[in-house]
Amino acid sequence: MNTDTYRHKGLRKQLVEEIRAKGIRDEKVLKALEAVPRHFFMDSSFLEFAYEDKPFPIGSGQTISQPYTVAFQTELLEIKKGDKILEVGTGSGYQTCVLIELGARVYTIERQKNLFLKTRELLPAFGYKPKNFSFGDGYKGLPVFAPFDKILVTAGAPFIPDAMLDQLQIGGMMVIPVGEDIQVMKRLLKTKSGIVEEEHGSFRFVPLLEKKAND
Ligand code: SAH
Repeated sequence: MNTDTYRHKGLRKQLVEEIRAKGIRDEKVLKALEAVPRHFFMDSSFLEFAYEDKPFPIGSGQTISQPYTVAFQTELLEIKKGDKILEVGTGSGYQTCVLIELGARVYTIERQKNLFLKTRELLPAFGYKPKNFSFGDGYKGLPVFAPFDKILVTAGAPFIPDAMLDQLQIGGMMVIPVGEDIQVMKRLLKTKSGIVEEEHGSFRFVPLLEKKAND
């Protein structure tokens, strides 16, 4: 299952060109997407879907994000090598690996027990090592490891959780889709004098849910 052939690499190159055509300009981000074998995150029988620019079910009612959305959020975060990042919503770990490809130190949290267990086992086997995998409710952030340079939320949040803003470094930024059915992509910059908020279009995510789930 975990072989990355010329065929996979070719499909990935095509996908990256598709994403570039949709407006992603940051070459480092595009290169990171070209590097991460998305088919590793899916059942082998779904290989033909791995390199389509679409979200895909990964179990427990969750999805692996659409590659364009992963690229868009990553580009907004302006990742620099060594950035300390909190990712809320580990899911398949695909976005986690894109951040690691960019040299980030990633602390990731997931509320679904079986996704947490599965991804914690798989990522290191693929050669990707986040600084920490946590099982818990991301609404609370990850206070033991705070503060963070950047925070990335990969599920739709009905509001912006205060705990996350508290755990953001001054000079840091957070990217979070906010809204119930459809979300507005927000980028928040934390300055000495307060929070500066920007809006970057509409998206549709699975919801950010409260409390851990053991199913
Ligand atoms: N980044 C993931 C996207 C997965 S979808 C990927 O590339 O595959 C969003 C994920 O957020 C789901 O796995 C969901 O279970 C998780 N999630 C939802 N609410 C959460 C919360 N409060 N804390 C942590 N994770 C949460």
